Amino acid sequence: MNRRFLIIIVLTAILALNFSSCKNPTEYRVDYAFVPYLNRFDSLAELHGKHFNPKLSGLIIEFGTLKDNNAGLTHFETPIRIEIDKTYWNEISHYAGADLMKEDLLFHELGHGLLNRDHLNTTLENGDWKSMMCGGTQVDNRPWNINYRGIRRKYYIDELFNESTPAPDFSSTQFAADSTKYLPVLTLGFTIADNAGWTLTDDAQHKMSIDNNRLKFESKISKTFLVFTNTNINIQSDFRFDLTIEYPVGDNSNQYGIIFGNVPTGSDGTNDPIEYFTINNNQKMYMGNRTWFSFFTQLNENSIIVGGKNHLKVLKIGQMLYYFINNVYCYCSEITTTQSGAQFGFMVPANGTVWIDNFSISQKKVAAMNVRPVSISNLSFETKTMSFPLHPKIYHQ
Ligand SMILES: [Zn+2]
Repeated sequence: MNRRFLIIIVLTAILALNFSSCKNPTEYRVDYAFVPYLNRFDSLAELHGKHFNPKLSGLIIEFGTLKDNNAGLTHFETPIRIEIDKTYWNEISHYAGADLMKEDLLFHELGHGLLNRDHLNTTLENGDWKSMMCGGTQVDNRPWNINYRGIRRKYYIDELFNESTPAPDFSSTQFAADSTKYLPVLTLGFTIADNAGWTLTDDAQHKMSIDNNRLKFESKISKTFLVFTNTNINIQSDFRFDLTIEYPVGDNSNQYGIIFGNVPTGSDGTNDPIEYFTINNNQKMYMGNRTWFSFFTQLNENSIIVGGKNHLKVLKIGQMLYYFINNVYCYCSEITTTQSGAQFGFMVPANGTVWIDNFSISQKKVAAMNVRPVSISNLSFETKTMSFPLHPKIYHQ
Protein backbone atom coordinates (compact mmCIF):
# COMPACT_ATOMS: atom_id res chain seq x y z
CA MET A 1 0.00 0.00 0.00
CA ASN A 2 1.52 3.25 -0.98
CA ARG A 3 1.97 5.95 1.61
CA ARG A 4 -0.53 8.42 0.13
CA PHE A 5 -3.26 5.75 0.04
CA LEU A 6 -2.59 4.86 3.69
CA ILE A 7 -2.93 8.50 4.73
CA ILE A 8 -6.27 8.73 2.93
CA ILE A 9 -7.52 5.62 4.73
CA VAL A 10 -6.42 6.97 8.10
CA LEU A 11 -8.00 10.38 7.43
CA THR A 12 -11.24 8.74 6.32
CA ALA A 13 -11.26 6.64 9.48
CA ILE A 14 -10.73 9.73 11.66
CA LEU A 15 -13.50 11.60 9.87
CA ALA A 16 -15.84 8.63 10.16
CA LEU A 17 -15.12 8.41 13.89
CA ASN A 18 -15.80 12.09 14.29
CA PHE A 19 -19.06 11.94 12.41
CA SER A 20 -20.20 8.78 14.18
CA SER A 21 -19.87 10.41 17.63
CA CYS A 22 -20.93 13.83 16.31
CA LYS A 23 -18.46 15.38 18.67
CA ASN A 24 -16.45 18.49 18.37
CA PRO A 25 -14.50 18.66 21.66
CA THR A 26 -14.75 22.45 21.73
CA GLU A 27 -18.36 22.71 20.62
CA TYR A 28 -20.17 25.63 22.24
CA ARG A 29 -23.92 25.34 22.18
CA VAL A 30 -25.96 26.94 24.94
CA ASP A 31 -29.72 27.34 24.62
CA TYR A 32 -30.81 30.97 24.69
CA ALA A 33 -32.75 30.35 27.94
CA PHE A 34 -29.57 29.52 29.85
CA VAL A 35 -27.29 32.29 28.57
CA PRO A 36 -28.11 34.85 31.31
CA TYR A 37 -27.29 32.29 34.00
CA LEU A 38 -24.05 31.23 32.31
CA ASN A 39 -23.05 34.90 32.04
CA ARG A 40 -23.76 35.41 35.74
CA PHE A 41 -21.73 32.32 36.56
CA ASP A 42 -18.81 33.60 34.47
CA SER A 43 -18.80 37.02 36.18
CA LEU A 44 -19.04 35.48 39.64
CA ALA A 45 -16.27 33.01 38.76
CA GLU A 46 -14.04 35.97 37.79
CA LEU A 47 -14.82 37.64 41.14
CA HIS A 48 -13.73 34.43 42.85
CA GLY A 49 -10.52 34.21 40.85
CA LYS A 50 -11.62 31.46 38.45
CA HIS A 51 -11.52 31.91 34.73
CA PHE A 52 -13.55 30.01 32.19
CA ASN A 53 -13.96 30.62 28.53
CA PRO A 54 -16.57 28.11 27.46
CA LYS A 55 -16.94 29.75 24.04
CA LEU A 56 -13.38 28.63 23.33
CA SER A 57 -13.09 25.49 25.43
CA GLY A 58 -16.59 24.20 24.64
CA LEU A 59 -19.80 23.66 26.59
CA ILE A 60 -23.26 22.33 25.79
CA ILE A 61 -26.33 23.28 27.82
CA GLU A 62 -29.54 21.99 26.34
CA PHE A 63 -33.10 21.08 27.24
CA GLY A 64 -33.87 17.42 27.72
CA THR A 65 -36.44 15.09 29.20
CA LEU A 66 -34.98 13.74 32.39
CA LYS A 67 -36.15 10.75 34.40
CA ASP A 68 -36.69 10.24 38.13
CA ASN A 69 -37.67 13.84 38.89
CA ASN A 70 -34.28 15.12 37.86
CA ALA A 71 -34.15 18.83 37.13
CA GLY A 72 -30.67 18.84 35.67
CA LEU A 73 -27.94 16.40 34.69
CA THR A 74 -24.28 16.98 33.90
CA HIS A 75 -22.61 14.57 31.47
CA PHE A 76 -18.85 14.42 31.83
CA GLU A 77 -18.21 14.34 28.12
CA THR A 78 -15.90 16.51 26.02
CA PRO A 79 -17.14 19.15 26.04
CA ILE A 80 -19.20 19.06 29.27
CA ARG A 81 -22.86 18.61 28.40
CA ILE A 82 -25.63 19.78 30.76
CA GLU A 83 -29.25 18.78 30.31
CA ILE A 84 -32.07 20.73 31.95
CA ASP A 85 -35.51 19.16 32.20
CA LYS A 86 -37.83 21.16 29.99
CA THR A 87 -41.04 20.34 31.86
CA TYR A 88 -39.59 21.43 35.19
CA TRP A 89 -38.12 24.61 33.72
CA ASN A 90 -41.45 25.58 32.19
CA GLU A 91 -43.33 24.77 35.36
CA ILE A 92 -41.20 26.85 37.71
CA SER A 93 -41.39 29.74 35.24
CA HIS A 94 -44.95 30.41 36.41
CA TYR A 95 -43.95 31.20 39.98
CA ALA A 96 -42.34 34.00 41.94
CA GLY A 97 -38.69 33.24 42.55
CA ALA A 98 -38.31 31.43 39.21
CA ASP A 99 -35.16 33.38 38.34
CA LEU A 100 -33.44 32.34 41.58
CA MET A 101 -34.56 28.74 41.21
CA LYS A 102 -33.17 28.66 37.67
CA GLU A 103 -29.92 30.23 38.79
CA ASP A 104 -29.60 27.68 41.59
CA LEU A 105 -30.16 24.85 39.12
CA LEU A 106 -27.71 26.13 36.50
CA PHE A 107 -25.05 27.02 39.06
CA HIS A 108 -25.38 23.55 40.61
CA GLU A 109 -24.80 21.84 37.25
CA LEU A 110 -21.98 24.23 36.36
CA GLY A 111 -20.54 23.41 39.79
CA HIS A 112 -20.31 19.80 38.63
CA GLY A 113 -19.25 20.55 35.08
CA LEU A 114 -16.85 23.48 35.36
CA LEU A 115 -15.80 23.45 39.03
CA ASN A 116 -15.58 19.64 39.30
CA ARG A 117 -17.60 19.69 42.47
CA ASP A 118 -19.34 16.60 43.82
CA HIS A 119 -22.51 16.54 45.87
CA LEU A 120 -22.19 17.80 49.44
CA ASN A 121 -25.08 16.88 51.72
CA THR A 122 -24.05 18.24 55.08
CA THR A 123 -25.97 20.97 56.90
CA LEU A 124 -25.25 24.22 58.70
CA GLU A 125 -25.96 24.62 62.43
CA ASN A 126 -29.50 25.92 61.76
CA GLY A 127 -30.30 22.96 59.49
CA ASP A 128 -29.93 24.75 56.15
CA TRP A 129 -28.14 22.73 53.48
CA LYS A 130 -24.48 23.73 53.67
CA SER A 131 -24.09 23.93 49.92
CA MET A 132 -26.02 24.46 46.74
CA MET A 133 -24.20 21.28 45.68
CA CYS A 134 -26.67 19.25 47.77
CA GLY A 135 -28.17 16.45 45.71
CA GLY A 136 -27.79 12.84 44.62
CA THR A 137 -28.62 10.15 47.18
CA GLN A 138 -31.28 11.42 49.54
CA VAL A 139 -30.51 11.98 53.21
CA ASP A 140 -33.37 11.11 55.64
CA ASN A 141 -35.78 11.57 52.76
CA ARG A 142 -35.19 15.33 52.97
CA PRO A 143 -36.20 17.35 49.91
CA TRP A 144 -33.46 19.28 48.12
CA ASN A 145 -35.31 22.58 48.63
CA ILE A 146 -32.73 25.19 49.42
CA ASN A 147 -33.58 28.69 50.67
CA TYR A 148 -31.64 30.35 47.88
CA ARG A 149 -32.56 34.02 48.40
CA GLY A 150 -31.38 37.21 50.06
CA ILE A 151 -28.34 36.91 52.30
CA ARG A 152 -28.18 33.19 51.63
CA ARG A 153 -27.55 33.66 47.92
CA LYS A 154 -24.22 35.39 48.58
CA TYR A 155 -23.14 32.68 51.02
CA TYR A 156 -24.11 29.83 48.68
CA ILE A 157 -22.24 31.41 45.78
CA ASP A 158 -19.14 31.96 47.93
CA GLU A 159 -19.34 28.35 49.06
CA LEU A 160 -19.79 27.14 45.48
CA PHE A 161 -16.47 28.64 44.45
CA ASN A 162 -14.74 28.06 47.77
CA GLU A 163 -15.75 25.08 49.89
CA SER A 164 -13.94 26.40 52.95
CA THR A 165 -16.18 29.50 53.18
CA PRO A 166 -16.86 30.00 56.91
CA ALA A 167 -20.34 29.34 58.33
CA PRO A 168 -22.48 32.47 57.83
CA ASP A 169 -24.05 34.44 60.70
CA PHE A 170 -27.57 33.50 59.65
CA SER A 171 -26.81 29.85 60.38
CA SER A 172 -26.26 30.43 64.11
CA THR A 173 -28.91 29.02 66.43
CA GLN A 174 -28.21 31.78 68.95
CA PHE A 175 -30.83 34.50 68.67
CA ALA A 176 -28.95 37.79 68.74
CA ALA A 177 -31.42 40.39 67.43
CA ASP A 178 -33.16 42.95 69.62
CA SER A 179 -36.70 41.79 70.29
CA THR A 180 -37.56 44.30 73.01
CA LYS A 181 -40.09 47.13 72.67
CA TYR A 182 -42.81 44.98 71.12
CA LEU A 183 -46.21 45.87 72.55
CA PRO A 184 -49.34 43.74 72.16
CA VAL A 185 -51.92 45.36 69.89
CA LEU A 186 -54.24 42.43 69.40
CA THR A 187 -54.76 39.56 71.82
CA LEU A 188 -57.44 36.93 71.45
CA GLY A 189 -58.03 34.54 74.30
CA PHE A 190 -61.07 32.70 72.91
CA THR A 191 -62.97 32.80 76.15
CA ILE A 192 -66.69 33.26 75.82
CA ALA A 193 -66.33 36.98 76.59
CA ASP A 194 -63.68 37.58 73.96
CA ASN A 195 -65.74 35.68 71.53
CA ALA A 196 -68.52 38.25 71.43
CA GLY A 197 -67.04 40.20 68.55
CA TRP A 198 -66.95 37.61 65.84
CA THR A 199 -69.15 35.03 64.33
CA LEU A 200 -68.62 31.32 64.78
CA THR A 201 -69.80 29.48 61.74
CA ASP A 202 -70.87 25.95 61.00
CA ASP A 203 -71.48 25.05 57.39
CA ALA A 204 -70.89 22.24 54.93
CA GLN A 205 -67.15 22.94 54.79
CA HIS A 206 -66.12 23.71 58.34
CA LYS A 207 -67.17 24.35 61.89
CA MET A 208 -65.75 26.92 64.31
CA SER A 209 -66.49 26.80 68.01
CA ILE A 210 -65.10 27.72 71.39
CA ASP A 211 -63.84 24.71 73.29
CA ASN A 212 -62.50 25.21 76.79
CA ASN A 213 -61.05 28.67 76.16
CA ARG A 214 -59.66 27.70 72.79
CA LEU A 215 -60.87 28.20 69.25
CA LYS A 216 -61.67 24.87 67.65
CA PHE A 217 -61.68 24.68 63.87
CA GLU A 218 -62.91 21.51 62.16
CA SER A 219 -62.46 21.11 58.44
CA LYS A 220 -65.02 18.94 56.71
CA ILE A 221 -63.36 18.92 53.30
CA SER A 222 -60.17 17.61 51.72
CA LYS A 223 -58.59 20.99 51.13
CA THR A 224 -56.34 23.05 53.32
CA PHE A 225 -58.01 25.96 55.08
CA LEU A 226 -56.49 29.37 55.64
CA VAL A 227 -58.29 30.95 58.57
CA PHE A 228 -57.46 34.58 59.14
CA THR A 229 -58.62 37.86 60.55
CA ASN A 230 -58.23 41.35 59.12
CA THR A 231 -56.27 43.76 61.28
CA ASN A 232 -54.76 47.20 60.89
CA ILE A 233 -51.25 45.78 61.42
CA ASN A 234 -49.19 45.90 58.26
CA ILE A 235 -46.86 42.93 57.80
CA GLN A 236 -44.26 45.35 56.41
CA SER A 237 -43.95 46.86 59.91
CA ASP A 238 -41.92 45.24 62.67
CA PHE A 239 -44.32 42.86 64.39
CA ARG A 240 -44.49 39.77 66.51
CA PHE A 241 -47.16 37.13 65.91
CA ASP A 242 -47.78 34.34 68.40
CA LEU A 243 -50.24 31.55 68.60
CA THR A 244 -50.53 28.09 70.06
CA ILE A 245 -51.84 25.39 67.78
CA GLU A 246 -52.68 21.77 68.41
CA TYR A 247 -53.30 19.21 65.66
CA PRO A 248 -53.47 15.87 67.43
CA VAL A 249 -55.07 13.60 64.81
CA GLY A 250 -54.18 13.16 61.14
CA ASP A 251 -51.32 12.17 58.92
CA ASN A 252 -48.01 13.09 60.53
CA SER A 253 -46.84 14.71 57.31
CA ASN A 254 -49.73 17.22 57.22
CA GLN A 255 -48.56 20.77 57.70
CA TYR A 256 -50.22 23.20 60.08
CA GLY A 257 -49.11 26.57 61.36
CA ILE A 258 -49.39 30.29 60.94
CA ILE A 259 -49.97 32.60 58.00
CA PHE A 260 -49.70 36.35 57.52
CA GLY A 261 -49.96 38.72 54.61
CA ASN A 262 -52.64 39.33 52.09
CA VAL A 263 -55.12 36.62 51.21
CA PRO A 264 -56.77 37.54 47.90
CA THR A 265 -60.23 36.48 47.03
CA GLY A 266 -59.28 34.44 43.93
CA SER A 267 -60.79 31.00 43.55
CA ASP A 268 -57.91 28.60 44.05
CA GLY A 269 -55.44 30.88 45.78
CA THR A 270 -52.56 29.86 43.52
CA ASN A 271 -51.09 33.32 43.66
CA ASP A 272 -51.77 34.18 47.27
CA PRO A 273 -48.82 36.31 48.41
CA ILE A 274 -49.20 34.87 51.85
CA GLU A 275 -46.26 34.01 54.07
CA TYR A 276 -46.42 30.75 55.98
CA PHE A 277 -44.57 29.05 58.78
CA THR A 278 -45.72 25.49 59.27
CA ILE A 279 -44.78 22.36 61.17
CA ASN A 280 -45.91 18.74 61.10
CA ASN A 281 -46.02 15.83 63.51
CA ASN A 282 -42.86 14.36 61.97
CA GLN A 283 -41.05 17.27 63.70
CA LYS A 284 -40.42 19.09 60.41
CA MET A 285 -40.64 22.82 59.95
CA TYR A 286 -41.27 24.70 56.70
CA MET A 287 -41.37 28.34 55.69
CA GLY A 288 -42.26 30.03 52.46
CA ASN A 289 -44.51 32.25 50.46
CA ARG A 290 -47.53 30.98 48.61
CA THR A 291 -46.45 32.62 45.32
CA TRP A 292 -43.35 30.40 45.16
CA PHE A 293 -43.17 26.95 43.60
CA SER A 294 -42.48 25.21 46.90
CA PHE A 295 -41.44 25.89 50.49
CA PHE A 296 -37.98 27.35 50.97
CA THR A 297 -36.52 24.47 52.94
CA GLN A 298 -37.49 21.69 55.32
CA LEU A 299 -35.87 21.55 58.75
CA ASN A 300 -35.78 18.97 61.55
CA GLU A 301 -36.91 20.66 64.76
CA ASN A 302 -37.07 18.55 67.88
CA SER A 303 -38.66 21.43 69.79
CA ILE A 304 -41.92 20.42 68.04
CA ILE A 305 -44.22 18.53 70.42
CA VAL A 306 -45.70 15.74 68.30
CA GLY A 307 -49.49 16.05 68.29
CA GLY A 308 -49.38 18.45 71.25
CA LYS A 309 -49.75 22.18 71.82
CA ASN A 310 -47.08 24.00 69.88
CA HIS A 311 -46.45 27.68 70.44
CA LEU A 312 -45.34 29.24 67.16
CA LYS A 313 -43.91 32.71 67.06
CA VAL A 314 -42.62 34.82 64.23
CA LEU A 315 -40.80 38.04 64.89
CA LYS A 316 -40.16 40.54 62.14
CA ILE A 317 -37.25 42.94 62.48
CA GLY A 318 -36.51 44.97 59.37
CA GLN A 319 -36.66 42.56 56.45
CA MET A 320 -35.86 39.53 58.57
CA LEU A 321 -38.32 37.03 60.01
CA TYR A 322 -37.22 35.05 63.06
CA TYR A 323 -39.04 31.80 63.71
CA PHE A 324 -39.53 30.23 67.16
CA ILE A 325 -41.13 26.95 68.19
CA ASN A 326 -42.06 26.59 71.86
CA ASN A 327 -39.73 29.51 72.60
CA VAL A 328 -36.77 27.83 70.91
CA TYR A 329 -35.27 30.02 68.21
CA CYS A 330 -35.08 27.93 65.04
CA TYR A 331 -34.41 29.95 61.93
CA CYS A 332 -34.31 33.33 60.25
CA SER A 333 -35.00 34.33 56.67
CA GLU A 334 -36.10 37.43 54.78
CA ILE A 335 -39.78 38.22 54.27
CA THR A 336 -40.62 37.51 50.64
CA THR A 337 -43.42 39.84 49.80
CA THR A 338 -42.98 43.57 49.38
CA GLN A 339 -46.75 44.07 49.39
CA SER A 340 -48.70 45.40 52.30
CA GLY A 341 -50.92 42.95 54.09
CA ALA A 342 -52.79 42.94 57.35
CA GLN A 343 -54.25 39.47 57.61
CA PHE A 344 -53.06 37.09 60.28
CA GLY A 345 -54.20 33.58 60.94
CA PHE A 346 -53.50 29.89 60.79
CA MET A 347 -53.48 26.93 58.43
CA VAL A 348 -55.59 23.81 58.95
CA PRO A 349 -54.80 20.55 57.13
CA ALA A 350 -57.39 18.94 54.88
CA ASN A 351 -60.12 17.24 56.94
CA GLY A 352 -58.23 18.29 60.06
CA THR A 353 -59.21 19.75 63.42
CA VAL A 354 -57.01 22.24 65.21
CA TRP A 355 -57.29 24.09 68.51
CA ILE A 356 -55.93 27.62 68.76
CA ASP A 357 -55.14 29.85 71.69
CA ASN A 358 -52.76 32.63 72.77
CA PHE A 359 -53.40 34.46 69.50
CA SER A 360 -51.42 37.66 69.87
CA ILE A 361 -49.92 40.30 67.61
CA SER A 362 -47.49 42.92 68.87
CA GLN A 363 -45.85 45.85 67.16
CA LYS A 364 -42.55 47.50 67.77
CA LYS A 365 -42.88 50.73 69.62
CA VAL A 366 -40.85 53.44 67.96
CA ALA A 367 -40.44 57.01 69.19
CA ALA A 368 -43.46 59.25 68.64
CA MET A 369 -45.57 56.28 67.65
CA ASN A 370 -48.63 55.39 69.60
CA VAL A 371 -49.34 51.71 69.28
CA ARG A 372 -53.10 51.54 69.21
CA PRO A 373 -54.70 48.31 70.34
CA VAL A 374 -57.03 46.75 67.78
CA SER A 375 -60.64 46.58 68.88
CA ILE A 376 -61.76 42.99 68.80
CA SER A 377 -65.36 44.01 68.37
CA ASN A 378 -64.69 44.55 64.65
CA LEU A 379 -62.83 41.32 64.07
CA SER A 380 -64.07 38.24 62.36
CA PHE A 381 -62.37 35.18 61.06
CA GLU A 382 -62.58 34.52 57.37
CA THR A 383 -61.68 31.31 55.61
CA LYS A 384 -60.22 30.34 52.29
CA THR A 385 -59.57 26.88 50.94
CA MET A 386 -56.65 25.89 48.80
CA SER A 387 -54.36 23.06 47.80
CA PHE A 388 -51.32 22.87 49.99
CA PRO A 389 -48.47 22.42 49.55
CA LEU A 390 -48.44 23.58 45.94
CA HIS A 391 -45.54 21.28 45.17
CA PRO A 392 -44.12 19.15 47.92
CA LYS A 393 -40.56 19.75 46.78
CA ILE A 394 -38.26 20.87 44.04
CA TYR A 395 -36.72 18.29 41.74
CA HIS A 396 -33.43 16.53 42.30
CA GLN A 397 -30.32 18.23 41.05
ZN1 LIG B 1 -25.95 17.37 41.21
